[in-house]
Amino acid sequence: TPSLVWFRDDLRLADNPALRAAVDRGAPVIGVYLLDEASPGVRPLGGAARWWLHHSLAELGERWAEKGSMLVLRRGAAAEVIPALVEETGAGAVFWNRRYGGAEREIDTALKASLRETGIEVSSFAASLLFEPWTVRTGAGTPYGVFTPFWKACQQLPPPRAPLPEPREISGPPRSPASDNLDEWALLPTTPDWAGGLRERWTPGERAAKARLREFLTDDADDYDRARDEPSAGATSLLSPRLRWGELSPHEVWHAAVSSGQPLGGFLSELGWREFAWHTLFHFPDLATKNLRSAFDAFPWPRLRPAMLRAWQRGETGIALVDAGMRELWSTGYMHNRVRMVTASFLIKNLLIDWRRGEEWFWDTLVDADEASNPFNWQWVAGSGADAAPYFRIFNPELQAKKFDAGGHYVREWAPDASGRDPIVDLAETRREALDAYEVVKRSG
Ligand code: FAD
Repeated sequence: TPSLVWFRDDLRLADNPALRAAVDRGAPVIGVYLLDEASPGVRPLGGAARWWLHHSLAELGERWAEKGSMLVLRRGAAAEVIPALVEETGAGAVFWNRRYGGAEREIDTALKASLRETGIEVSSFAASLLFEPWTVRTGAGTPYGVFTPFWKACQQLPPPRAPLPEPREISGPPRSPASDNLDEWALLPTTPDWAGGLRERWTPGERAAKARLREFLTDDADDYDRARDEPSAGATSLLSPRLRWGELSPHEVWHAAVSSGQPLGGFLSELGWREFAWHTLFHFPDLATKNLRSAFDAFPWPRLRPAMLRAWQRGETGIALVDAGMRELWSTGYMHNRVRMVTASFLIKNLLIDWRRGEEWFWDTLVDADEASNPFNWQWVAGSGADAAPYFRIFNPELQAKKFDAGGHYVREWAPDASGRDPIVDLAETRREALDAYEVVKRSG
C-alpha cells in the first residue's frame, strides 16, 4: 500500500523526516498539500503569505515530478480530506512533521487517532524546531519565561541532529490521484496586483533558500554581529521566510552556520529566539489574542483610531524611519528587525493603538509571518509578553534613526519624502500619555 506524506510548514525535500520515513517504508509515496481554511481555529493566511505559498508549492510540485512521484493539492478541512485521500489511494501509512499551534495540534491529534482506528499507520516527526517544546522546562517543570535561561537550558540538551539528505528518487503510485490546479486556488493577488516588489525581492522555493544560506555564510556572516542592527547594511540572513515555510529546516541552518567557521554566536541565538517564540506559543496557544501578562488587560487603550492606524499602515506618519519601514513592508513583504521594533513601538506607545491591530497588519503583509514569532514579538514590544522590553522603555524613532541609519540610506531608499512632512503626533507628548496609561497596568499588576 502507498504512503502519504502530508506537507504543511515544511515545503522541502531535504531534511524532511516524514518524507524520509515514507521513502524508507519502500512502497510508492504520494505527497499532499492541503489548503485548509475550513478547520476550526486555523488562522487564515495573510496576503503576502499566500503569495509565497503559491510560488513555493509550484516549485515543490516540480521537484516531486523530477524525483518520480507527485505532489497532490487538495483543499478543505483536514479531518475530512486526509481520510478521503487515504481511502482513494489505498494508502496504508501517513507521515507528517509536527505543528505546534493550538488548533493545529488538536487537528493532528484527532486525525492520528481516527486514522489509527481504521488500521492506518500514522507517524509524526520533529522537523521544524531544534528542540521539542516539552523537552525544555525549568527545574520546577514550568515553561521558561525568560530567554537567557531558556537558551542555556536548550544548550544543555543533546545538540540538534544532523540534517537528512534529500531522497535520490521517490517512487510514485501506478495511477496518480487527481490534484487541484494551483492557479485555481487564487493565492496570488490580481486586481490590484500589489506583488511587484515581492517578485523583485524574492524567489520562493527550496533551491533558492539553499542558495541564500550559502551566500549568507560566505558573503555576509562575518559582518553579522557588527552590522545586524543597521537596516541598510544587508548584514542579516533574510532566511525568515525560508524558515517560516520550511524551505530550510532550522537543523540545516544550524549545522551550516556552526560548520562555517564564521563568528555566528549572535546569529545562533536569534535562532534561539525563534525557538523561544514557538515554545511560548506551544504553552500559550492564545498568544495572538491574549496578553501573556494579564495585568495588561487593564491597559486603557484610548479608542479605535482608524485614521492614525491607516497613516501607520501606509507609511504616512511623518516620522521618517517609521514611514520607511512601513513602506518597505508593503512593497517587499519584509522589514528589517530593528525597524520592526521601532514601527511596532511607535504604533503602541505613540499612537496608543492596541498591539493586536499591528500584529494583524504584519500578519497580512509579511512573507515570514508565523503564528508564533509575530504575536510573540508584538507582545515583546508591548511589554505584555515573555521576557518583554519594559513598557516604559519607549523607542524614540528619531534617535533610533540617528543611531542605526546614521548615513540616512535606509530612509532615503524607502521614504525620501518624509523629511518634508509634519509628524501626525508629537513624540514627547504621546510618550507622556503612554506612560500615564501604563500607570493603570502597574496598579492592576
Ligand atoms: P536574522 O537576523 O538573520 O536571524 C536569523 C533567523 O532567526 C531569522 O530568519 C528568524 O527565523 C530568527 N529570528 C531572528 N530574530 C527573531 C525574533 N526576534 N523572533 C523570532 N525569530 C527570530 N520573525 C519571523 O520570522 N516572523 C514574524 O512574523 C516576525 N514578526 C515580528 C514582529 C515584530 C513586531 C518584531 C519586532 C519582530 C518580528 N520577527 C518575526 C522577528 C525578526 O524581525 C525577523 O525574524 C527578522 O527580521 C528576519 O530577518 P532575517 O532572517 O534576516 O534575520
